[in-house]
Amino acid sequence: MKINENFAKLQSSYLFSTIGKKVREYQAAHPAAEIIRLGIGDVTRPLPAASIAAMHAAVEEMAHAETFKGYPTDIGITFLEEAIRADYALHGVALDLDEIFLSDGAKSDTGNIGDIFDSANTVAVCDPIYPVYVDTNVMAGRAGELLPDGHWNRFVYLDCTAATGFIPQLPTQHADLVYLCSPNNPTGTAMNAAQLQAWVDWANNNGTVLLFDGAYEAYITEDLPRSIYEIPGAQTCAIEFRSFSKTAGFTGVRCAYTVVPKALKAGASHLNALWARRQATKFNGVSYITQRGAEATFTPAGRAQVRETIAYYLANAGVIKAGLESAGFQTWGGVNSPYVWLKAPAGLGSWELFDLLLNEAQVVGTPGSGFGPAGEGYFRLTGFGTAEKTKQAVQRVLAAFSPAVPQRF
Ligand code: PLP
Repeated sequence: MKINENFAKLQSSYLFSTIGKKVREYQAAHPAAEIIRLGIGDVTRPLPAASIAAMHAAVEEMAHAETFKGYPTDIGITFLEEAIRADYALHGVALDLDEIFLSDGAKSDTGNIGDIFDSANTVAVCDPIYPVYVDTNVMAGRAGELLPDGHWNRFVYLDCTAATGFIPQLPTQHADLVYLCSPNNPTGTAMNAAQLQAWVDWANNNGTVLLFDGAYEAYITEDLPRSIYEIPGAQTCAIEFRSFSKTAGFTGVRCAYTVVPKALKAGASHLNALWARRQATKFNGVSYITQRGAEATFTPAGRAQVRETIAYYLANAGVIKAGLESAGFQTWGGVNSPYVWLKAPAGLGSWELFDLLLNEAQVVGTPGSGFGPAGEGYFRLTGFGTAEKTKQAVQRVLAAFSPAVPQRF
């Protein structure tokens, strides 16, 4: 027996365990301190009332033989796919029902999509980035070896730094698969139509597949595309991932969907057929109760409740961004995203800023270096806390830095 040796190459994910340890140690040494967590990437508001009512009704259906539902994949129910298709249509995107695949999460789908691609493919990613794209390709043997700078020798790294406004630039090298995430985690930046069009044209010209993660599309408030399929030509080069997690608070309920257009081909092979085969073999569908809850987010009441919750998180992100900028911090995101990405004052590393904020402001954030080597010197705060605590945290951060912030940049 041999194990998949690629697992040995994975770097240990110390990020959240180290954060937890540091916070516990601080709390033990300062029992009276009231720590505010703005590092959290999970939502905190309850599910929309429309979803709760729909899920209660679905539970009741499961209680009676006449309305009981078994394997979701076997009974051919498509009400949720139909609601998703109608939602896309509202944004001018026409999809067939069998181009929409339900799942238990965008994490699973962005991780599992690699199953349908050859391990010899070249993968392009941003740095910093949502770590799942990197780690799943390490597991699949597409990353090669880890270099001293923390990059993988077989990956193509997209130019995506402060100099580009954290917007990924087209690479000069070929890549078979490109992961794009907009609005982005962790940098909070969202791509405009011209930027996405350049990617779609490049992908179509190069036989590249774009793996477009739209987990945060619901946070877009400005006039920016919410779906890659709003861009002409995207149906022949892009797979899109979406989730109810950050949209409607389903992080604990689990429901997402992936769109694989039938126009997307590699030679004679349709990627849609490959993904359908993959999912039919390894996934047994989303629970009926969950699907009813997700469907309810598309009703008028559900949409209003979702909008209200997202507006709440966005307002928090706006408070963080405005507060930090008033003190001289350089920030990105926080407008079409729950994430605010900030540059640590000069001379401070990501973890040094973490320690400083914990010790001097009792505020917990996420060190940017946890999202890739280029995240060093940056920091992520999120709008997922309560409005009250968020305001309090910002005041504390400003007090901790005032009047020293300018000197520290
Ligand atoms: N994609 C991105 C960019 C994320 O930040 C997250 C969660 O943090 C996910 C996907 C995972 O979403 P889900 O809860 O649907 O698995």
